[in-house]
Amino acid sequence: KARRERRDRLHALLDRAAGYYARYLWESAEAAAARDYLARRGLEVETLRTYRVGYAPSAWDKMLLGSRQAGFSEEELLATGLAQRSRQRPGSYYDRFRERIMFPLANARGKVVGFGARAMRDNQPPKYLNTSEGEVFHKGSQLFGIDIARRPAARAGTIVLAEGYTDVLALHQAGVQNAVGVMGTSLTDEQARELERTARTLVLALDADGAGQEAMVRASRIAAGRRLELRVARLADGMDPADLIQQQGAGAVRELVARSVPFVSFHVDKILGSADLGDAEGKDRAIAELGPVLAATPPSVLREELVGRIADRLGLGRPLAAQLLERAAAEAP
Ligand code: ATP
Ligand code: MN
Ligand code: MN
Ligand code: MN
Repeated sequence: KARRERRDRLHALLDRAAGYYARYLWESAEAAAARDYLARRGLEVETLRTYRVGYAPSAWDKMLLGSRQAGFSEEELLATGLAQRSRQRPGSYYDRFRERIMFPLANARGKVVGFGARAMRDNQPPKYLNTSEGEVFHKGSQLFGIDIARRPAARAGTIVLAEGYTDVLALHQAGVQNAVGVMGTSLTDEQARELERTARTLVLALDADGAGQEAMVRASRIAAGRRLELRVARLADGMDPADLIQQQGAGAVRELVARSVPFVSFHVDKILGSADLGDAEGKDRAIAELGPVLAATPPSVLREELVGRIADRLGLGRPLAAQLLERAAAEAP
C-alpha cells in the first residue's frame, strides 16, 4: 500500500509538470518562439494539445519552486527526474529541463512517467534530452503515444512505429491515429511484446536514413518469432514522417502508410540497393545475403516476384537465380 501511495504521488507530480509545461507553452511570452517553431513544422494546436506538448522555461528553478509550493518534496522531484542535484552547490537542486519543447511520455493507461525534451536551436545540445532511467521511467518498455494509439490500433489490427515524437504527432494529425514512437532507433523486446499485444500487423515507418533503415532490419529480428506481420512504409531518401507532413501535407503521410510493403520486399530492395553489382563477385555476395532472406519467406507469389526482381537486377536467367539463391540459403551459417 505504501508503495502504491508513493507511485501515485510521483505520477501526480509528473502530471502536474505536464500541465505546467503545457500552460507555459500556450500562455507565456517566453514561449512565443516555441509556438512559432512548432507552427512552422506544420503541427497544429489541436495535435499539440492532444499530446500535451509543452515548454520548459529558461529559469533554473520554476518547476522546482512551483512543485514545492504544491506540496512535493525535493526527494520526489529527484525521483521523477524533474530536478537534479547541483554539483557546485551541494544540497541544492535545479530544474533538469530548461528552454525545451516538452513531450510528456505516458504509459498505456495514460499516466505520465517521464518527458522527452527537444532543444529549440542546434547550438543547444543534446537535441533531445530525456528523463533518465529511474523509479517510474524505463525507456526500454516505453512507446511514445501508446495511450492514444492503443484503441485505434486494436480496432484497425495495425500499429505504426515511427522513430520520433514529431513523427507520431505528424501521423496522428494526418489521420493515422494508430501510431507510436520507439524514441530512437532500437526496438527492445519489451516494446515488441507491447506491440504484439496491441495489433497483429506492425508497419515500420522509421527514418529513411542509414540509421533508420538498419534499425528496420534489427527490428525485424526482434519481432521474429512473435505474432507480428511486418510491413514497411517507404519514405523518400533522408525523410521522416514529420518532414513529409511539412513538405507535402497530410495526404502524403496517409499515403505513406496505405502504401506500405511487406518487410521482405523492403529487405530485398535494401540489399540490392547497397550491393555492388558491377562484377561477378559483387553479385555472388548479394546472392549470399539474399538467399537466407528469401528462404525465410513461405512460397508465394510475392516470393516469386522477388526472385524475378533479383534475376533482373543481376542480369541472370530466372531459373539460375532461383537455384543460386536456394544454394546460398542452404549454405548460410
Ligand atoms: P526532429 O524532427 O525534431 O529534428 P527527430 O524525431 O526527427 O527530431 P531523430 O534524430 O530522427 O529526431 O531521432 C528520433 C528520436 O530518437 C527522437 O524523437 C527521440 O525520441 C530520440 N532521440 C534522438 N536523439 C536522442 C538523444 N540524444 N537522447 C534521447 N533520445 C533521442
Ligand atoms: Mn532518425
Ligand atoms: Mn527523424
Ligand atoms: Mn524529424
